[in-house]
This record gives sequence, C-alpha cells and structure tokens, in this order.
Amino acid sequence: RAKVLGKARYEVFDTEMHDSVVKLLQLENDLRRAIERQEFEVYYQPIVLVETEKITGFEALIRWQHPTRSLLNPVDFISVAEETGAIVPIGYWVLFEACRQLRTWQLEFSAQSLTMSVNLSSKQFSQPDIVEQIVHILQSTNLDAHSLKLEITESTIMENAESATAMLLQLRDLGIEIYLDDFGTGYSSLSSLHRFPVDVLKIDRSFINTINRSDEKTKIVQVIMSLAQNLGMDAIAEGIETVEQMMQMKTLQCKYGQGYLFSKPLDKNAAAALIASII
Ligand code: C2E
Ligand code: MG
Ligand code: MG
Ligand code: MG
Repeated sequence: RAKVLGKARYEVFDTEMHDSVVKLLQLENDLRRAIERQEFEVYYQPIVLVETEKITGFEALIRWQHPTRSLLNPVDFISVAEETGAIVPIGYWVLFEACRQLRTWQLEFSAQSLTMSVNLSSKQFSQPDIVEQIVHILQSTNLDAHSLKLEITESTIMENAESATAMLLQLRDLGIEIYLDDFGTGYSSLSSLHRFPVDVLKIDRSFINTINRSDEKTKIVQVIMSLAQNLGMDAIAEGIETVEQMMQMKTLQCKYGQGYLFSKPLDKNAAAALIASII
C-alpha cells in the first residue's frame, strides 16, 4: 500500500517537475524573441527631493508585455534573463530606450535637469566594453552624461572589485553618477565601501516600509544615513508609501525619496503627462 502511494507521489512530483521545466524552457524561448517582437516597455518611477517633494528624475523599470500572459514584472523574468544571458541585450535596450526617452522629455518640456536612473545587472556590467557601450548610447541619444545615473548592487562590484572599481571610475569621469541599489540587504562590504566610487546609497525598501513600526529598522536607517554622510554620499529612501515614512526620512535628512506615496512606476505616456503637469 505504502509502496503504491509512494509511486503515485513520485509520478505527481515528476509531472510537476516536468511542467515547471517546460514552463522555464518556454519562458527562455519567449524571452529570446521578446526584443525583436518589441514586447518590452520601460516604466518610469519618479525620484523626488525629500525636502521639497519636487521630482528630480526617474528610475527606469522594465516591464514585459508577454504575448499570451499579462504585463509581467521583473520578478517574473529577470532572474531567468540573468541565467540565460538574455539580460545583456535586454539591458542594452533598456539603457538606450531610457536615455532616448529622457532626452525627448528634456527637449519637449525644457527640463534639462531631469535625470534618469537605469539598473545594470552584473552580467551587463562584467562586459569589458560596457563603458564604450554607454558612451555610444549617450552620443546616439545626445544625452548629457550628468543626466544619467547607473544603479548597481554591492555584489556586482564585489564579483570583481578591482576591474569594477576601474570601470566605475571611468564612468564617473564621464560625469555619470553611481547609485548603490538595495543597500543594506545581503552582503555588505563595509570595509571596502569607501573605496568604491559611489555617489548615492539607495536604502532598500525593506528598511523603509517598517520604519515606523520597528525601532530596529529605524536605527539601521539612521546608521546607513550617517554612513552615507561620513563617506560624502547622498541617500535615496526607496519604497516610501506613507506620509509618516516621508517625514521620518526628512528628519533624517535623506536627500531623495522614491515610492508609491509619490507615484508608482508609470508608462511613458503617464510619465510625460506627469512632467507636463509640474512644469
Ligand atoms: P529596484 O531597482 O530596487 O527597483 C525598485 C523596485 O521597488 C521596483 O520594482 C519598484 O516598482 C518598487 N517600488 C518602488 N516604490 C515602491 C513602494 O512604495 N512600494 C512597493 N511595494 N514597491 C515599490 P520592480 O519595477 O518590480 O523592479 C524590481 C527589480 O527588478 C528592480 O529593483 C531591479 O532590481 C530589477 N529591474 C527592473 N528593471 C530592470 C532593468 O531594466 N534591468 C535590470 N538589470 N534589472 C531591472
Ligand atoms: Mg534600482
Ligand atoms: Mg532598489
Ligand atoms: Mg529593491
């Protein structure tokens, strides 16, 4: 009896495993065609000055209009794109599109000071010619380097600290600022942080969204803020959802904020309408 049940269970397991492998292969396949089929879209989430709540720029966040599914968020496909390497052409497309879009808005709305932050994955960043690629995109889109911010994580730097630091220095020489994304999560290289050419720490959402409910989280945010100050870096609080959280970040003198309180990520038309409404 037990043996029979056991066998049935394995069969169920096999079927489930088979299904998930098929799904994964399908996703990989769909991803490979998604660029040429123009299924990706960039959404834009405002970044504000905490002091004035004025929009200073946007973060570019990818979305995928899958042919048979709904609009997919990065969580549904970015890790697969990373594993298969598809993230490299996808990331290049996002960078180009976000720079092109920002330049259009700067001209259309006479808003030269608007900035654009773009996430770079570690596979993208480990390409030896990434700096040349970025220079090429800036030239093609006629975007000033000071308008572009690149978001990378500490683990991306740490994967190859020496060459990564050299590349970041080249990018900074061009005038591009570097934002350290998801700061405070995972492995933090506190002892090397001062050696990284980083301009802004992005405090991870997980610290901000419980800041009013947890003394511990509040203390961590305070520590990150003083760390940033001591290293001469600015900070962005990610995932501000309530007025209370914003007030707290104001008290902590955090320069920038980003979160649903100000706006969710918007498609390009909604983002343009938002810019038009504040100009
Ligand atoms: P991230 O770079 O840390 O981006 C911030 C994420 O937090 C975004 O999720 C944004 O929608 C979300 N968020 C912002 N404010 C709030 C808030 O107040 N509440 C809540 N609940 N969420 C908030 P999204 O767009 O789903 O992106 C997730 C991650 O996917 C990004 O995290 C980034 O690591 C990655 N990603 C997105 N676009 C790209 C891309 O073009 N290239 C690469 N390599 N990664 C990307
Ligand atoms: Mg980011
Ligand atoms: Mg982040
Ligand atoms: Mg995050």
